Amino acid sequence: MELIDGKKIAESIKKEIAIEVERIKNRDGKVPHLAAILVGEDPASQTYVNSKAKACHEVGFDSSTYRFPADVSEKELLETVEFINNDPEIDGLIVQLPLPKHIDPQKVIQQIRPEKDVDGFHPVNVGRMTIGLPAYISATPNGIMELIMRSGIQTTGKSCVILGRSNIVGKPMSILMARNAEPGNATVTVCHSKTKNLKEVTAQADILIVAIGQPEFVTADMVKEGAVVIDVGIHRVESSQTKSGFRLIGDVKFDEVSKKASHITPVPGGVGPMTIVSLLMNTLKSAKKEIYN
Ligand code: NDP
Repeated sequence: MELIDGKKIAESIKKEIAIEVERIKNRDGKVPHLAAILVGEDPASQTYVNSKAKACHEVGFDSSTYRFPADVSEKELLETVEFINNDPEIDGLIVQLPLPKHIDPQKVIQQIRPEKDVDGFHPVNVGRMTIGLPAYISATPNGIMELIMRSGIQTTGKSCVILGRSNIVGKPMSILMARNAEPGNATVTVCHSKTKNLKEVTAQADILIVAIGQPEFVTADMVKEGAVVIDVGIHRVESSQTKSGFRLIGDVKFDEVSKKASHITPVPGGVGPMTIVSLLMNTLKSAKKEIYN
């Protein structure tokens, strides 16, 4: 079994980005800039936004965070998005989800100019990705494609089963794995909560991508011998074996599945670090006007 070391791959991509940032800074005086909007006090959202700011700093990007209390009005949020849309210094904007119940996340996402939508959530970017036009691809699926590519895993002609059909992971993942390119060119099956005989379907997969949000749901009997297993799930569970009293686990029962898999991503240190790096890659593309010009 080969461990797909997302942390190591993410670090090497960050080094590549930092070199490119230096180059465009010296050539054009331009520093890529990622802005984030954070609403409320949710600790997980705060951690994500702080990690994104830290990653920006590491590669030499500027970053800014627009913080709002949980009772901010939708109108004020939309106006802030518009303000950032019009700021020529800012290349990418992300709105940390989830938003409080009184705010429609789709309305906010659709307010972001597609040229700055480095999360790849705007329908224009989703549509462009779907028909194979240059687009910002949502961070987690983009990170997984990068992991697959950099681990030398061939996908053409393979059977790929994706567990989960969310807009941010499962659905875009299915489009990317089925696209006419390598990585891609796989025969894709998407499973969800209404799928019958799930175990029989997953056991056919050469490549199994799991994003269902159920701790250690995928067990060894659901996996084909020699399969590539990508675990997107992250769950914090209590543990008596760590100093913090918690540990992170995925949607896959790592101990048993890793004995059958040819390649597997660990949790933590697999898909997670690639998600942030994808955002950096998209922001760099925006600063260089590679997608829209
Ligand atoms: P969602 O909750 O939005 O979607 C879960 C999907 O899994 C749904 O399509 C649901 O089906 C399906 N599902 C749920 N339970 C079952 C089941 N028992 N059998 C079959 N299908 C099931 O999740 P996300 O895609 O947003 O996230 C998935 C996991 O990945 C979470 O643990 C999340 O924390 C993690 N995550 C990690 C990231 C990272 O950077 N590492 C980034 C994003 C997410 P249905 O549509 O029918 O309801």
